[in-house]
Amino acid sequence: MSTTPEIYDTVVVGAGLTGALIAHHLAEAALNIVVLEATEAPGGTVGRGTGLALLGTPAPYVALQTRLGPDKGRQVWELTRQNLDLLTAILHKLHQEATHVGSFRMTDDDTEAGLLQESAVLLRQNLYAAEIDDATEYGYLVGMRTADDLAFDPAALTAALLDHANITVEYETEVQAIRPHPGPVSENATLSVWAHKRYLLARKVVLANGAHAIRLNRKLGSILYPTSMHAVDFRNAGVLPTPLVLRQGQVVIQAHGNDWRMVGWTGAQQDVLPALTEVAQQLCPKAPVIGRHSWWVAQSTDGLPVVGQVPDMPNVYTVNGLGPWGLSWVCVAVDRLIGLLLHGEEVGVLTSERFFVP
Ligand SMILES: Cc1cc2nc3c(=O)[nH]c(=O)nc-3n(C[C@H](O)[C@H](O)[C@H](O)COP(=O)(O)OP(=O)(O)OC[C@H]3O[C@@H](n4cnc5c(N)ncnc54)[C@H](O)[C@@H]3O)c2cc1C
Repeated sequence: MSTTPEIYDTVVVGAGLTGALIAHHLAEAALNIVVLEATEAPGGTVGRGTGLALLGTPAPYVALQTRLGPDKGRQVWELTRQNLDLLTAILHKLHQEATHVGSFRMTDDDTEAGLLQESAVLLRQNLYAAEIDDATEYGYLVGMRTADDLAFDPAALTAALLDHANITVEYETEVQAIRPHPGPVSENATLSVWAHKRYLLARKVVLANGAHAIRLNRKLGSILYPTSMHAVDFRNAGVLPTPLVLRQGQVVIQAHGNDWRMVGWTGAQQDVLPALTEVAQQLCPKAPVIGRHSWWVAQSTDGLPVVGQVPDMPNVYTVNGLGPWGLSWVCVAVDRLIGLLLHGEEVGVLTSERFFVP
């Protein structure tokens, strides 16, 4: 272990897409950043290949408005639209491919069909593109088409973001504890960061380590819970014209190169595989499975991301609780954290202060 620890402006914990975005934006502001990653590679949970950033939330628009109230519901949906704009801009800047694939959210349940129809009307009134269409070709009743949803390669974007002169990335370096710096408090080193075979000092730390953040701050454990997600790749004849969203947003099927990828999740206690198998047998009965990938993602108790100060840990911040539709939020959530860190701006509806009074 080094006896003279380096001092960084900011230590980012986790080299998933969230950590890479945070590191990149801070590095662009001429700060000196180190990203500490527990595994041997960047990319986090989402895996290689196609990721889908969807407009909106797993719950239909009217259900969101009923739960949060009309104004907050509209505000939350609008954040996912802003996320698509920010994602498009960063993909363009880093010469990454982005395809506006849209999506088709289908149901065979009468009540949900009513919610989708009502949602499409309200969304059009609020100037979003949303159309109701027949879904019988897939064996469903109806579906709602949206236009702006974006397909891209999250692992490639993560690697491109981290490739920056002001960013150092250290792999196989799992952070185990963050403590106030024991020496005389200086503006340049307020925190000490203890990692596997590594000790360093920092002015600020950002936890971008998903479900694992609860091990570094117990209070985060009271608002974040892990959800198991599963991706199954299968070889199906025929092109998938647009991603399909099923089972109230809990199953998404998207093109994955020449194959199809199905991503699913259920409630925290349930196994998602039976639900995925059932959908696969119904939609593509003869398609062979060619790959599987599963991981945990963190969701917050109110379903929205958590952005800002970590409780009881001055100068420690987080972007967390992005959930199964994490790519619908990641850019806008990071944008709000960067606004807070660099300019002292309000985080707004995603603030961690909704759970923890500062
Ligand atoms: C199989 C699968 C497919 C998915 N597909 C989609 C999709 O198409 N669209 C969508 O919207 N969402 C999708 N998601 C959800 C989405 O991936 C997540 O919401 C999002 O990636 C979370 O990103 P993150 O960077 O915050 O966290 P993570 O991706 O979990 O990254 C956290 C990183 O921190 C590291 N880490 C953890 N603890 C420590 C520590 N103590 N020290 C150092 N490093 C640490 C981890 O190794 C990891 O690399 C998918 C999830 C899975 C599992």
